[in-house]
Amino acid sequence: MKVTSRPFGILNLLIIIILASCSSEEFNPRSDNRLLLGTVCVLSLDRSEPVELFEKAFEIIAGEERLMSLQIEDSDLSEVNRAAGESYAKVSPDTMEVLQAAKAYASMSGGAFDPTIAPLVGLWGIVTGNAVSPPDPAEIEAVRKLTDYRKVLINEEDHSVFLTDKGMKVDLGGIAKGYVGDKVKEFLLSEGVERAIINLGGNIVVLGSKPGGVPWKIGIQNPFDNRGRHIGLVSVVDSTVVTSGIYERFFEYEGKRYHHILDPWTGYPVENELASVSVIAEKSMDADALSTSLFVLGIDEGMKLIEEIEGAEAIFVTKEKEVVLSSGAGNYFELKDSDFSIISWR
Ligand code: ADP
Ligand code: MG
Repeated sequence: MKVTSRPFGILNLLIIIILASCSSEEFNPRSDNRLLLGTVCVLSLDRSEPVELFEKAFEIIAGEERLMSLQIEDSDLSEVNRAAGESYAKVSPDTMEVLQAAKAYASMSGGAFDPTIAPLVGLWGIVTGNAVSPPDPAEIEAVRKLTDYRKVLINEEDHSVFLTDKGMKVDLGGIAKGYVGDKVKEFLLSEGVERAIINLGGNIVVLGSKPGGVPWKIGIQNPFDNRGRHIGLVSVVDSTVVTSGIYERFFEYEGKRYHHILDPWTGYPVENELASVSVIAEKSMDADALSTSLFVLGIDEGMKLIEEIEGAEAIFVTKEKEVVLSSGAGNYFELKDSDFSIISWR
């Protein structure tokens, strides 16, 4: 989970919410937001729901952030990172669950998704918003060697974690927002809430449907337009939509864009045909880890992976403004922008 000095895309998030809520079917929500998890977290609930739910939900998010943020000195992750190469560090059950899932996704994606990418992320400085130019290639090469998820050892019995090499660090920025979204949904369900939209920096989790069983419509951001425009809509009930893209966090240097999703094999921002990839799934943690994984893998490999996973679909958007859908994604996605076209991939 990352914290940045720049809250990205507040406008985008509001537009997604407005979009999700305007339709002839009545959903007249009350929304509230907080800057948490290094982004804007917006919760929308029916006006009939008690207002205390907002505070309780934001407290759940803040609690998870205290465990998994790299910016908080005594978070579980900071303790694990500090003990790298030396000893096991105890973590909470939540942190352990996310680390285990992160390792599973690392293995499933053949290392494209790697939670030990943190030293590279730190070197690039893209997430902090301070980066102005790429790091020295020799430094990238040196730091790249610290990324290897197989060196994260988890002792399930006593809930402790060991990074085998000094200098190694874990970063759950590619998966934790999804986990937290699921947690908030669980909480709202336990409170008897029937419908809600949880938007954690663009990671959308919807609970139930609009009144009358009408699906929510979630906008898929136009990756070339940072004004919150969307290229199409995804209609979903009790589901989650998570996007990874080149437009979230980046800097430009000598006319080239350097964004925040890194290729663990090169140590540089991923460079392939993709501008963004959105994943629809039941669990937001899966969608989050998968969107990052597919983005790194590219369409050929990414399509293979998503087709193997039951209950998850992907919408790939290329730099050429083509939209490529996994086999079931057409059931949810509707293209709305004529600058883009849906194509079948090879
Ligand atoms: P966002 O968090 O902006 O919505 P992602 O879910 O795709 O987007 O996560 C990107 C974040 O994940 C980065 O900011 C970084 O902290 C981390 N990250 C970058 N590259 C990788 C990677 N190859 N594997 C796992 N995590 C990554
Ligand atoms: Mg992700």
